[in-house]
Amino acid sequence: MPLERLALSRSTLDRTAERRSDPQLVATLLADPRTRVALIHEGETAITAAPTLHLWTADALVGLKDDALRFFLGTDDEGRGYLALSVAERPTVPEGVRWAPLREVGALLDDAGAGIFTTAVALIAWHAFHTHCANCGEGTDVVQAGWVRLCPNCGREHYPRTDPAVIMTVVDADDRVLLGRQASWPEHRYSTLAGFVEPGESLEDAVRREVLEESGVLVGEVQYRGSQPWPFPSSLMVGFRGEALSSQVRVDGVELAEARWWSREELQADIKAGRLILPPAVSIARRLIEDWFGAPIPDDTSAW
Ligand SMILES: [Zn+2]
Repeated sequence: MPLERLALSRSTLDRTAERRSDPQLVATLLADPRTRVALIHEGETAITAAPTLHLWTADALVGLKDDALRFFLGTDDEGRGYLALSVAERPTVPEGVRWAPLREVGALLDDAGAGIFTTAVALIAWHAFHTHCANCGEGTDVVQAGWVRLCPNCGREHYPRTDPAVIMTVVDADDRVLLGRQASWPEHRYSTLAGFVEPGESLEDAVRREVLEESGVLVGEVQYRGSQPWPFPSSLMVGFRGEALSSQVRVDGVELAEARWWSREELQADIKAGRLILPPAVSIARRLIEDWFGAPIPDDTSAW
């Protein structure tokens, strides 16, 4: 069974993509008192103490300065529409509401909130880096309720991109797991290996290539375990478990500074002793490690 309920893979809205072609859709929804709006400012949104998303009604947005990026995210079970607005300034929020990034609250929000925040951040990040036509260089216009950019010069349509990346636990014949520390990370912080899929490459071959490049370990059988969006800025993390055919580790020294094998006993002991800090619950890396470990690893013993 693949991993379920990954923190950022819990979206509940019906995207109702067929509605995006209505050029009046956003205006219509902003005139509907049932509509709810998420505001995003520099990757952060407003969060209640619960925590849940603090959403705005359209009439609460009158007079708000925004930078004109408005997105239709979808519709809930009751037919209520949801928008996200990218705002240049943070409006004041009620007492107890604060602004927080997705990495911090993604695993704590309810399913609907996690999905809204993840989709909004991913879309805004794509727009930020794709303002001009990749074909002719002209500045493009946002159409389709925020889901397409259209070039007024050559007519090319540009769709939001997601970049596939593989991320994997590698397990050896003694059932130990391979974790690595990136050169830029502090001491004791380790995670699964990961890397982008290259053109012309399958996901499985990307797993084998990345592990070999970064750690020198040969991987044979590869099994899919689950996926989640990782919009920092535009990745889709596709999770695998790979069976190691060799155990000698030789890090590349570029991407990885260190990598080594842990048994379950060693992992528990090193976490307890502060010699190992695992990735946070919002990441698929954490879930892949727990998948190998066989149980959730309590958060209070390790967090980035
Ligand atoms: Zn163009």
